[in-house]
Amino acid sequence: MGKVPYDLIVIGSGPGGYSAAIRAGQYGLKTALVEKQPRLGGTCLLVGCIPTKALLHTAGVWERFAHAEQEGIHCENARLDYPKVKERKDAIVSKHSKGVEMLLKRAKVERIAGCARLLGGGKVEVASESGAQILESANIIVATGSEARMLPDLEPDAERILSNVEILNLTSVPRSLIVIGAGAVGVEFASIFKRFGTEVTVLEMLPRVVPVEDEDISRELERCFRKQKIRVETGARAASIRKTGSGVALTVTTKDGKQEELEAERLLVAVGRKPNTGNIGLENTRARLDRGFILVDAHQQTAEPGVYAIGDVVAGTPQLAHVATREGMIAVAHIAGKAAVPINRNRIPGCTYTEPGIGSVGLTEAQARAEGRTIKVGRFPFAGNSRATILGHHEGFVKVVMDQQYGEILGVHIIGPEGYELIAEAVAAMEAEATVDVMMQAIHAHPTLYEAVGEAFNAVYGLSINA
Ligand SMILES: Cc1cc2nc3c(=O)[nH]c(=O)nc-3n(C[C@H](O)[C@H](O)[C@H](O)COP(=O)(O)OP(=O)(O)OC[C@H]3O[C@@H](n4cnc5c(N)ncnc54)[C@H](O)[C@@H]3O)c2cc1C
Repeated sequence: MGKVPYDLIVIGSGPGGYSAAIRAGQYGLKTALVEKQPRLGGTCLLVGCIPTKALLHTAGVWERFAHAEQEGIHCENARLDYPKVKERKDAIVSKHSKGVEMLLKRAKVERIAGCARLLGGGKVEVASESGAQILESANIIVATGSEARMLPDLEPDAERILSNVEILNLTSVPRSLIVIGAGAVGVEFASIFKRFGTEVTVLEMLPRVVPVEDEDISRELERCFRKQKIRVETGARAASIRKTGSGVALTVTTKDGKQEELEAERLLVAVGRKPNTGNIGLENTRARLDRGFILVDAHQQTAEPGVYAIGDVVAGTPQLAHVATREGMIAVAHIAGKAAVPINRNRIPGCTYTEPGIGSVGLTEAQARAEGRTIKVGRFPFAGNSRATILGHHEGFVKVVMDQQYGEILGVHIIGPEGYELIAEAVAAMEAEATVDVMMQAIHAHPTLYEAVGEAFNAVYGLSINA
């Protein structure tokens, strides 16, 4: 029998797929990457993490100008040129998409354009405008990602009913926006457009915003949003949605059972992401699914030998870019016969880039209690942090959840200025299995935001200094 042409075919060029392909190239595996979109980078780069953070950055800059007088700076006639804001965002995306192309070339990964489908037995069919071809590989990584879930009978229309894709293409700031869904995607868009001047309403069916976060974090974000005049309705259900002459009208049942009619120029549906596992030929393999997500073992292998899955298609891990990348590293290491440490679900940071920003890792207080742990909690408010006052952003706090038995850090939850950056210390501490007592000895430079993290470790024993 002849040798199969490829050691690895990766399907999808999101952060999971392209990183896995590059690592495979670095390991000397003969690798091909199949992508159906004309540009590389997947959801994260093209319509997710990067464009949203570019807009969030500009929204922050604009807000600074809007309040510059407090800092003794007078900006006469400051004007927001939204088409230019969009242009900058698009340029960032293009630059990085080309960067991915260059990195793949350097790693000697063959790029194949087209839509891939598994045929079983290591074969992949790739359909493109120039016809179909069948490739064969010893290993396959499925990294086909996800797309926005819509509500029943509702389709995005690029005008008024939007998903994350259409909203990023707007060329002007809407006067009003209703966001359905207060997960990370929903609250980030709320934070972007509120700061650009849109009247924003956020509707969430569950009792709290950012429902995967610690309850105190949800409460604080909701409080801050209300202070920023973002209307937040939790426990609210949108019953009927229809287009009007000038926008969209919704009938909403609020948590106290009242029906209310809401209208806005645009509606963003941000109710989660469905995995792209429907039309990729998984039925030709033994891979098993759970509600559309692919079941994998600790090395990202599906039940079909030689077929791996990573990223947003995987059951049981959060749909985050850095999770996709890490899972890609694990799969490729396993394929290449290198040591592959399985992903630890308790050490995955989650970040939400609102103002204030959120960063968290590990167990929430409620999860730790539900596990029957005897815990101690330390909390330090950014109001006691001088750097936060200098920046003019002193909302929020750092919360540390510790297991009393050995001082193990079970979770750290931050909401505050650049909370999404500050979480890095907690992730490193937990990975190194540092205890709270060890982190109390770590010297935190002054004046920095991350002093608040050091203070929160001390607060577990009631020993914080500045609050
Ligand atoms: C608005 C928004 C903001 C986000 N912000 C963040 C953030 O700040 N941080 C974070 O960690 N995560 C964020 N995410 C989530 C993040 O984008 C995803 O977790 C991440 O992109 C998943 O990576 P992936 O490689 O699994 O798949 P994807 O990035 O979805 O890429 C999959 C790729 O596969 C291709 N593909 C699909 N089917 C086929 C096929 N049959 N043949 C060939 N190619 C195919 C697709 O075209 C796509 O390019 C955000 C998501 C959204 C929507």
